Amino acid sequence: MIKIIKTRNLLDQELDSQNGKSIGLVPTMGNLHEGHLSLLASAIAENDLSIITIFVNPKQFGPNEDFNKYPRTLEEDIKKIESIKPIDSTKTIIIFAPKSDREIYPNNFSTSISVGELKTILCGKVRPTHFDGVTTVVYRLFKLSRANNAYFGQKDYQQCIIIKKMIRDLEIPVTMHIKPIIRNVDGLALSSRNQYLNDDEKKLALHLPSTLIKIEHLIINQKSYQALITQELSDPRWDYLQVLDADSLNEKIDQSKKVVIVGAFRLGNTRLLDNRVVKC
Ligand code: AMP
Repeated sequence: MIKIIKTRNLLDQELDSQNGKSIGLVPTMGNLHEGHLSLLASAIAENDLSIITIFVNPKQFGPNEDFNKYPRTLEEDIKKIESIKPIDSTKTIIIFAPKSDREIYPNNFSTSISVGELKTILCGKVRPTHFDGVTTVVYRLFKLSRANNAYFGQKDYQQCIIIKKMIRDLEIPVTMHIKPIIRNVDGLALSSRNQYLNDDEKKLALHLPSTLIKIEHLIINQKSYQALITQELSDPRWDYLQVLDADSLNEKIDQSKKVVIVGAFRLGNTRLLDNRVVKC
């Protein structure tokens, strides 16, 4: 059964009536694609009740970013969710699409959750206020949804590490699940922002995943990747391209058991993110 809820009061009423069920949360900004739907499918499989939130969170956009033009497609999103048919008909899916920001941030809301240093590296260098906006909204959504489990995409790797840290530091009783990146047939990670790209840019965008794969092969074959990274970084379209310890996002050290190759690549005004995790 699918229920569409637009206010916090109705969400509270619904959750009171569902008392005792396990709850899986999938936070999104809408304009859903297969990446989002795969997270929802995991939530449905592992919980009695799944809540997918659709909220374009103003706090995570900087002053000159795409908050106003971010695609808002609630009707289509609802249809895509309706097309997922849980095998088990006792499962409930709630689409929580707040009718205004006030449902998430009541009047005079002035608190910000901030994770410290992790928010200042990689994407945080060009988006200095972004991760405070993310952790603040995720904290609010954890609270409002009463989630036991929460599902996030590996695509936003730094976001995952930051949320994991917030959960640990604040001892939030939510289990975080990080799910694989869903890609199109060419290998480009799906993203709501891919639609800003024209056909030429979509082809150029493949340089991002293909470079990460090249570095992955070098790591697997225990060859040096530094020269390739240095050569790539002379292309100004890279915001960053680095190999880091996958757990801490510090510089890779000899003891690192897992590394992550992270890249942010700019085409016009669109910044694309991708990453690959490699066992050492
Ligand atoms: P967004 O709506 O962009 O904020 O994304 C909502 C959630 O979907 C986040 O946990 C993202 O990491 C995840 N997500 C976005 N794109 C993908 C993808 N291509 N594959 C898997 N998860 C994704």
